[in-house]
Order: sequence, then structure tokens, then C-alpha cells
Amino acid sequence: MKNRRRFICTHEAGHALIFWHEGFPLNEVSIGRPLDNPNIDGICWAVSPDTTAILGSGRLNASVIHATFAGKVATDTLFPAEPDNGHRFDFSTVERMIRQESETLEILRWLDSNRSATVADLYERQKPKIASVLRSPQGKRALKALRDALDKAGVLSGQAAVTILEKSWGQPLPPAALPVERHMALTMKGPKTFDDLILEVRQYAALMKKDVKNLRDNGTAEENCRMDRIWSALLHLELLL
Ligand SMILES: [Zn+2]
Repeated sequence: MKNRRRFICTHEAGHALIFWHEGFPLNEVSIGRPLDNPNIDGICWAVSPDTTAILGSGRLNASVIHATFAGKVATDTLFPAEPDNGHRFDFSTVERMIRQESETLEILRWLDSNRSATVADLYERQKPKIASVLRSPQGKRALKALRDALDKAGVLSGQAAVTILEKSWGQPLPPAALPVERHMALTMKGPKTFDDLILEVRQYAALMKKDVKNLRDNGTAEENCRMDRIWSALLHLELLL
């Protein structure tokens, strides 16, 4: 296809437009193949307005489904003659969401067939599942550690809270838990305490090292040389912390 680039731009713009239309803050819209996932041609990240979860992490939601299908709808609209295979990742994203949200679907089906059920009934029904996490040895440890830290500090950034949860929960971490750097408070608002500041600098340094490592040897010798200088500056920074 000669207009491949325009096609991809249209696709990502379709995602972005619907996310924006449905009230989600946009995090990034980009084209080109990211080094960590050469199978995709572009990215549209949005952040859910009511939680800090990054979309695509598996939450089934009508707005997310609309926005995920919007890339194909956009190219079907502006390129009606072109065969489109750019949507296969979007379809598998929705497939994954449906699979991961099988419990949500189960609750919705239960509510649908028990129209007179109250929220308190739903609470009693769901309680054992939640309690099995909170009352497990890891869950109890993590709950108490976070409670105590919050009691002491009064306020914790998302990152600080996740650091505490990870440490007290122990390995292996819950399979769906996002890594510390994916919790958005880091970029949304500044650190509240000195410890948060140190944590933030450390996380930025780690992210930058990863980026430099990914990009090394992808450009000119001059670029490599400058990346090596950035790398050693980052090592110095880590020593300071
Ligand atoms: Zn897409």
C-alpha cells in the first residue's frame, strides 16, 4: 500500500478521537515501531479518568471497546477500498479483555437474572473471593504494611504505595499487578516527600537506562558516543542516591 503511513495515522487517530470523545485523558499517540514491540505500527495510550489503570491492561468497558475498534472504523471510513489487517492487535486486545473480565461478565449475568438483588446481596456474594486475597498470608502482610506506612506518612504516591505492596507481598507478585513504573502518579504529580523524590529519580534513571540500552547501536557512531556519556552520567546519578 503506497499510503501505509497515512493509513496508520488514520488508524491511531481513530483510537485517539474516540478516547478523547469518551472523556479519557490521552497519554500518547504515536506511529512507528517501538523497539520493545516491533509487531505494532503505532500506539494510542489513554489513561482511564477514574482510575490510574492504563488502558489495555484488561479492563472491559464500553468506552474502551469503542475506542479500540475506532482504528479500523477510521480506516474503513477514509480508505474504503483498502484491505485492512491493521486491526488484528485491536481485535486480540478486545478478546483478551473479554477473557480477563470473565468474572465481570459473570456478575453482570447474575445481576441480570436477580433483578431484586441489592448491593448488600452482591457484597455477600463477592465477599469470599475478595477475602481470599486480603486474608492470605501475603495479603495480610501487604495490607498491614501499607496501613502502617500510610498512618505514618499521611500521604503516599502511587509508586510509594506499590513499592511497599511489592516488598511486603513478596515473590511471586500477583500476576495482574502492574510494575511500579506503570503507576501514573509519577508523571501526573510531583513527589510529596523526600523518599518519594529519591524513588522518582531512581525510577526515571532506570527507565532512561532501559531507553538508552534499547537505542544503542541503532544510529550513528556519534549518537552511540553521546549515549555512552548519558549512560555513565546515569550510573553517577545512581551512586548519588
Ligand atoms: Zn489499533
